[in-house]
Amino acid sequence: MSYIQVKDASEIQVPTNPTIAYIEGDGIGPDISKAAMAMINASVEMAYHGQKVIEWKRVMAGDEAYETTGKHLPQESLEEIKRCVVAIKGPLTTPVGEGFRSLNVTLRQYFDLYANVRPVKYFPGVPSPVKEPEKMDMVVFRENTEDLYAGIEWKYDSDEAKRLRHYLEESFGVKLTDDTGIGIKPISRYKSQRLVRKAIQYAINNRRKSVTLVHKGNIMKYTEGAFKEWGYEIARKEFADSTITEDEYLKSPGTASWKIVLKDRITDNMFQQVLTRTSEYDVIATTNLNGDYLSDALAAQVGGLGLAPGANIGDVYAIFEAVHGTAPKYAGMDVANPTSLTLSGVMMLNYIGFKEAAEILEAAIHEAYQDQKVTQDLARQMNIKPLKCSEFGEEVIKRMIAKS
Ligand code: NAP
Repeated sequence: MSYIQVKDASEIQVPTNPTIAYIEGDGIGPDISKAAMAMINASVEMAYHGQKVIEWKRVMAGDEAYETTGKHLPQESLEEIKRCVVAIKGPLTTPVGEGFRSLNVTLRQYFDLYANVRPVKYFPGVPSPVKEPEKMDMVVFRENTEDLYAGIEWKYDSDEAKRLRHYLEESFGVKLTDDTGIGIKPISRYKSQRLVRKAIQYAINNRRKSVTLVHKGNIMKYTEGAFKEWGYEIARKEFADSTITEDEYLKSPGTASWKIVLKDRITDNMFQQVLTRTSEYDVIATTNLNGDYLSDALAAQVGGLGLAPGANIGDVYAIFEAVHGTAPKYAGMDVANPTSLTLSGVMMLNYIGFKEAAEILEAAIHEAYQDQKVTQDLARQMNIKPLKCSEFGEEVIKRMIAKS
């Protein structure tokens, strides 16, 4: 087995036959994983004709792991992903009562996958609720480890909530009624800046036009507002040569068209801007809760979550995943849409430097959609005959072969 090597804790070295971990997932997971991996393998074969291959390492997690080991996420699985550095996963059922909130949260914490990256782009032929969906081409960088998602919260009648209310009243004169539950919203400079750094670096590497810091700092000044300030600070400190603020740009438009324009928008405004001025936004860097809402809303503009890819990325470790859940009612029926997971595979191929394969695979998916080859989730909106999950995969592979 050839494992990806980590260099200087911030760079990876990928062999020509890297071992990549995969988790099939629960519910529709096995169906979409099978189809997605066949498409990914075909794209690598078309691009490199055997000079490069992916060696898949199956890793157990979710229901299957629980049945075999009594744990939804056994330590051995975590260690295997660590060895592989890069993994791709199908959706997992959120187990109840194992001492953590979800397997996804556990994976993000264990590997410190601080950036949730979600590209949102329109595929011609896909039904959309907006008039000009083709204007959408954004990449959301959502902070993945803090904010209200840190899970620091107490029920209104818990001892902790009572003590906190008392402390707030005694120490700060803040009065909360006895029926008030409490959640804490931690936002730190370090975690905000490493997220914004990743977003700007991505924008530079991929020749994007702008990075927009999305925040609700008009109301939450020292958390959301601080996120914005820290974002500008890191841009000034580390990317002064390659970024320009929107204010500076507006004063001298065109003078630095190769620079990344740094913008900031308040969250509620941003939700209407992405509908009314779609083409003015590109890379988005935002806090955890904003990013969760915004990325689903953006995905809806171009046809929904069934097509939305995602990745959780840290300094080196990365787990690519379908954005949707396990859709249990379709489990084992070979009818689910494998696009979300396959496009996550495109992101993964780019991440490991298999860029030619990524291009081939993305283009073939585009073509399949243009030819109205779709699974039931989209076929029912288009009043056409649906393909099965596996058939969709075959159509995509056919298009890759035809071009080779
Ligand atoms: P869901 O699994 O995303 O499914 C909700 C609905 O979305 C489905 O009934 C189906 O809609 C549609 N859908 C989702 N993925 C689809 C696909 N690939 N192809 C076609 N249709 C698809 O959400 P959920 O029912 O709320 O969650 C079920 C389980 O998944 C829960 O245990 C949850 O915790 C887990 N989950 C896991 C992840 C993850 O692992 N990343 C993410 C979210 C949820 P129609 O019924 O309209 O056809």
